[in-house]
Amino acid sequence: MRTPTFSPANVQPIQKKLYQQRQLQVFVLRLDKLHPVVSGNKWFKLDQFLQAAARENKKTIITFGGPYSNHLVATAAACAELGFNSIGIMRGERPATLSHTLADAQACGMHLHFISRDAYRQKQVPASVIEGLLPGTWSIVPEGGYGREGAEGAAGIMQLVPPGIDHIVVAVGTGTTLAGLSLAAGATQQLLGISVLKNQQSIDAEVKALLPPAIRNFSILHDFHFGGYAKKNAQLIQFMNQWYRDTGIASDFVYTGKMFYAAESLAGAGYFPRGSSILLVHTGGLQGNRSLPKGTLIF
Ligand SMILES: *Cc1c(COP(=O)(O)O)cnc(C)c1O
Repeated sequence: MRTPTFSPANVQPIQKKLYQQRQLQVFVLRLDKLHPVVSGNKWFKLDQFLQAAARENKKTIITFGGPYSNHLVATAAACAELGFNSIGIMRGERPATLSHTLADAQACGMHLHFISRDAYRQKQVPASVIEGLLPGTWSIVPEGGYGREGAEGAAGIMQLVPPGIDHIVVAVGTGTTLAGLSLAAGATQQLLGISVLKNQQSIDAEVKALLPPAIRNFSILHDFHFGGYAKKNAQLIQFMNQWYRDTGIASDFVYTGKMFYAAESLAGAGYFPRGSSILLVHTGGLQGNRSLPKGTLIF
């Protein structure tokens, strides 16, 4: 895919009293500014998968996702831009009304197929989908872009990180983005992943599986999920509104809202040593907020 244009201005310094008191320099990497639809980390995670598909002359990309999957809509948009057909495999019955995310994916030309929960768990591509395609002309991108290719693509994010950063904080779903940053980090840099899933301790091993054994420069915190994936409460919403007032940065309630919240409470608790430089990665995904009732957020 085309390399996105990205100006150094998209590394935004954050001035807050708390950070000054703690002698922390804090920046946000605005990956949300990269692309109108494929915003954030998804562009990077898809890059290697789609380059390989293009080299191998594949015509159709098949992937998996749920009704609020940023990965699905990003794949649909990237495929439309690059001239691939795209197929999204979904869990369960087709709903009477599609979520905003699924409607967007469909508007980008993605064909949505709904399969049983059991079949979905095994990531089966239905025979009826394959039958319609010429053999050898399609390839599968795993759910969430998880995999070596995804991590190698995400490693490209490090090229946008300014020099002198000690800690990099990122929201964790599959952990592929965290793995990519771990791969490309400098020897003294520490990665901190904020899991948005509840009790998903297996992610640590899933990230390790994407890394050579010598690379163990990351840790994942599991205390900032606010009840689980896409769960939220008044405290989180209030924080996101306050963060927007303070910084002008919009966040989403599934990923980056929880990550910014975690970074702030860790800073307050003295987690980062004085004098540290911290980069918070804004991984995009703002379209997910459209499922909230109007007026919940001030942005
Ligand atoms: C998908 C997504 C993530 C999670 O990325 P992983 O590589 O799956 O950990 C984080 N933030 C946003 C906004 C996302 O859409």
